[in-house]
Formats: sequence, C-alpha cells, structure tokens
Amino acid sequence: MGIAVCCPRCGGRVRAPDLMNSDWRCDVDGPVLPFSVAEHINAEILEAVVAKLRPRRPGADATPLWALWPLPPGWMVTGVGWAGDGRSGVRATVLACSGPAPIDRGPADLVLVAEEPGVGLGTRFAGIPGPDPGPFLEGAQDGAPAHAKVRVAGWPTPLWSVKSADDRSAYVGEAKGMWLYAVAWPASAGYLVAEDLSLCDLVDSLPSELVFGAPSPHLHSCA
Ligand SMILES: [Zn+2]
Repeated sequence: MGIAVCCPRCGGRVRAPDLMNSDWRCDVDGPVLPFSVAEHINAEILEAVVAKLRPRRPGADATPLWALWPLPPGWMVTGVGWAGDGRSGVRATVLACSGPAPIDRGPADLVLVAEEPGVGLGTRFAGIPGPDPGPFLEGAQDGAPAHAKVRVAGWPTPLWSVKSADDRSAYVGEAKGMWLYAVAWPASAGYLVAEDLSLCDLVDSLPSELVFGAPSPHLHSCA
C-alpha cells in the first residue's frame, strides 16, 4: 500500500534515522515518531494496519484504532494513519470518517485519535498547540460535568470539549489508558460527538460491513 510519512505534530517533512541520529526528526519539532498515512482506504488496508497494532506478546496492550460504529446512515471510513515505527511500535492511531452534515447540508468529517501522551497527533488535529491537551481541557480538572458521554467499546466514556481552531469541534477524553480525541469539521458537526457517539476498537473486531469512501482531506495533509 502507498504510504505518506510526515511529522505527527505539524504535518511537515521528517528525516529518517541515520548514522548520527537514532530518531526520526522534524526541523520544527525535533525528535518525533514518524506519522504514516495510507494513501487509500479499503478493507485489506485496514486489516494490514490492525495487524500492526495487535500485541506481539500475549497479554500486552494493543494501541486501539477507534471507529464510528455502527456507522450512521451515509457515513464512510475515509482514512487511516498511525505514529511509530518498527522500533517504537505504534503509539498513536487515527481513523477518519466522513458523512453528511444535516445542519450545513455539506460534508462532515470526523477524525478519531488514540495516542499515548506526548505524541502530539491529537493536538494537531484539534488545532491546539503543543503535544498535551491538559491545559486546554475546559473544566475537566475542576470536576465539571463532561461535555459529551460516548460509548467506547461499550463503556460510557466522558469527553470534554477543548478550545479548538474555529473551523472544527474537538473533544478529548481517555480510553484504554490513552488519550482519545474526536475532532469534527465543520464545527457544527460537533453535535455528532455531543449527542450520541458509539465507537468500537477495530483491533477487537473489524466489522465486515464497513463502508469506505474517498480519502479524507484532513488526514491526507502530509506536506
Ligand atoms: Zn513537525
């Protein structure tokens, strides 16, 4: 499968490890994990990515790959990416879904990110600076009620909205011991997250009924 590789934090060019450096490096962000985006999406590509995520040792935790499931009417899976290489293992994943936005009558996109702290993929999609969503979580630290309760792998999971870029709505929470980001374009499509969202981990099961669409412009933004 064709793969584009870029910086998870800025989408810019990354340099591979060489004799002098053991890390992948971005000119802006320094050492980073390489972020790979599959250039197309279909069931075989998704299976290949899920195979990368399955733990190599029995009992070890897999990095989840969250998907909108069941897919609402008209929604499709439109991209997949992951951060990490053979040495680090996969430390973050992203899946893009696209569908109709009833409010604006145009297309809506939803990007779901699972990441270990510090990767910086989720904050880029959310449009907030730095690799850590903590400072942007409105109210989560002082015990305010969650802005959204989604079902994640069957469990009610609180999400909090973060002050994102104006063109999108971004929510952050925690699932399976990792940050979970749900970022929707346009901003009005955030109702999807706030109202009734159900996610499944494709590592646990890959529904054969998934529908695939044209690559998401939000995911395929490697410079
Ligand atoms: Zn960068």
